[in-house]
Amino acid sequence: MKLNFLTAHELLEPPGQGSISSGDIVSDLKGRIESVEPKVKAYARQPFFEKALNQKLEAGWLKGLPVSIKDNICSDGDLTECASRILCGFVAPYDATVVKKLREQGALIFGKTNMDEFAFGSSCENSAFHPTHNPWDLDRVPGGSSGGSAAAVAADEAIMALGSDTGGSIRQPAALCGVVGMKPTYGRVSRYGLIAFASSLDQIGPMTKDVRDNALLLKAIAGHDEKDATSVKTPVPDYLASLEKGVKGMRVGIPKEYFIEGMDPEVREAVNAAKAKLSSLGVKFIEVSLPHTEYAVAVYYIIATAEASSNLARFDGVQYGFRAAVKTDGAEPGLISMYKQTRGQGFGQEAKRRIILGTYVLSSGYYDAYYSRALMVRALIKQDFDKVFNECDLILTPTSPSAAFKIGEKTDDPLSMYLSDIYTISVNLAGLPALSLPCGFTKASLPIGMQILGRPFAEEDIYRLAFAYEQSTHWHKEKPKL
Ligand code: GLN
Repeated sequence: MKLNFLTAHELLEPPGQGSISSGDIVSDLKGRIESVEPKVKAYARQPFFEKALNQKLEAGWLKGLPVSIKDNICSDGDLTECASRILCGFVAPYDATVVKKLREQGALIFGKTNMDEFAFGSSCENSAFHPTHNPWDLDRVPGGSSGGSAAAVAADEAIMALGSDTGGSIRQPAALCGVVGMKPTYGRVSRYGLIAFASSLDQIGPMTKDVRDNALLLKAIAGHDEKDATSVKTPVPDYLASLEKGVKGMRVGIPKEYFIEGMDPEVREAVNAAKAKLSSLGVKFIEVSLPHTEYAVAVYYIIATAEASSNLARFDGVQYGFRAAVKTDGAEPGLISMYKQTRGQGFGQEAKRRIILGTYVLSSGYYDAYYSRALMVRALIKQDFDKVFNECDLILTPTSPSAAFKIGEKTDDPLSMYLSDIYTISVNLAGLPALSLPCGFTKASLPIGMQILGRPFAEEDIYRLAFAYEQSTHWHKEKPKL
């Protein structure tokens, strides 16, 4: 079998004597990319085939494994454009901490994956480059904003990948593409070198073919970093060591507010079937309540846009990327028209919508009515979880209300796109860890994902439950027919 179809743990421990070279993996990935990438378009631009082969690897336990990274994560000397016109031509002058860590442990940075511009979106259609297609059905979206990473892993165009998650951007595309995606606890992974969307919500995390690979990649990138003041000193456990500890007696909460109208019946059925499977493995389910769930979407789209409008203020044509060719014949002074024209031409429609919304909720007169109140409700959402975690160890929910939707289906209706984030955003508001993993397929053969949430720094428990479930199913072994 071609090496690109294997998981990282299979490549690290090949059966028999021989070891696998990084060059062989890269060449099989290249073959795969040449055949399917024209249809999937998972990458932002061509991966580093030549550079990858010539790259000097640090010796380390990751033994030259290629990792693909989202286009908003800086890698020294490489284009890092956040799928935005305004960062066109921007070459990162340093490695993000996650990239530095990966290199130190012997991994190879293989390529940059496509995304919604600045991570704004749930479909990968907001990329300034091209939309990415779902490998399971090319007429459908891969989810977003880390849709390129999810599609690359699902299509075996990547061994594993990094995404970023502000409101679901790792978990939702993982669900829609049938892969495993973890949003770690806020502070678990350094954000240094991640181009910021909403700094109080953003977190980098692994997207992989199975749970073991996910634990492996998180182990490689987690840990304190003095360059990110919000990263924490809590020691990083060996996530791989606890995978097989079993789930007997684990108490898992089912929030009643998550099983509501609007959820596709096929998603409901798949999650219920997974529940039954887990019960047979010894998990105890209890109904719990997260009463402030109904405010989560509204609160998120106030806080996230407020932070985004502030973070994006730095893109003005002076220091980074694109600068408009300014016409100076008008009455306006040159500098102001340069700002206006650069930002007017450089940002896509969704980025502009978010900057305007964010500026509005922060402006005097509206700050108290929107931003301050949203912060208060955020605290209530967090409290809901604190209470529930007195009764149970983990929470199980669907990841997304439906399987992958058609390309173009929601582009004219941003609100319906926002509402589809209902199951993922509370986790970011509360700073919790959560993972999405495959739990079935629709009749039309589209992957369905379920989400496991934990207490802060309970990634280990999440992996244990996910692994036990995964090992008793075959979903993660299914491949799209490309
Ligand atoms: N879909 C959400 C949004 O559009 C989440 C994005 C993300 O997590 N980066 O904001």
